[in-house]
Amino acid sequence: MRDRLARFFYGRNGIDKLSTFLWVVGLILLIVSSIVRRFASSGVGYAIWALALVCIVLSFIRIFSRNISRRAAENERYLSIKNSVVNGFRGRKTRFDQRHDYKFFKCPECKSVLRVPRGKGRIYVTCRKCGARFEAKS
Ligand SMILES: [Zn+2]
Repeated sequence: MRDRLARFFYGRNGIDKLSTFLWVVGLILLIVSSIVRRFASSGVGYAIWALALVCIVLSFIRIFSRNISRRAAENERYLSIKNSVVNGFRGRKTRFDQRHDYKFFKCPECKSVLRVPRGKGRIYVTCRKCGARFEAKS
């Protein structure tokens, strides 16, 4: 049985992070649709149910796909989007935690976030990424 399963998956993409994500989103949407159908018009519930089905079908198509390089590229894209979202939230939390001691600026050139200690008056901030200088009040 195990051999047959291994042979079946040979040359196929298998389960990756994006497929797992689609599968989980599909399951959550299924649960949401069953709740919504109880309270709202059935049209909305049906739309969510259809979306859930699309997610689950897509995840299966990806798992059994033989175009591994293309699926790997999709997975990479998903991971980079996920990382930027997670890092964005982390950055926001750090800024909130340090808001009494530091002031945060966005570099006018490259948009990266710069941190300076508070209470130093007017200062020149030099971006450590692109070297741009600008005046700011700490
Ligand atoms: Zn910069």
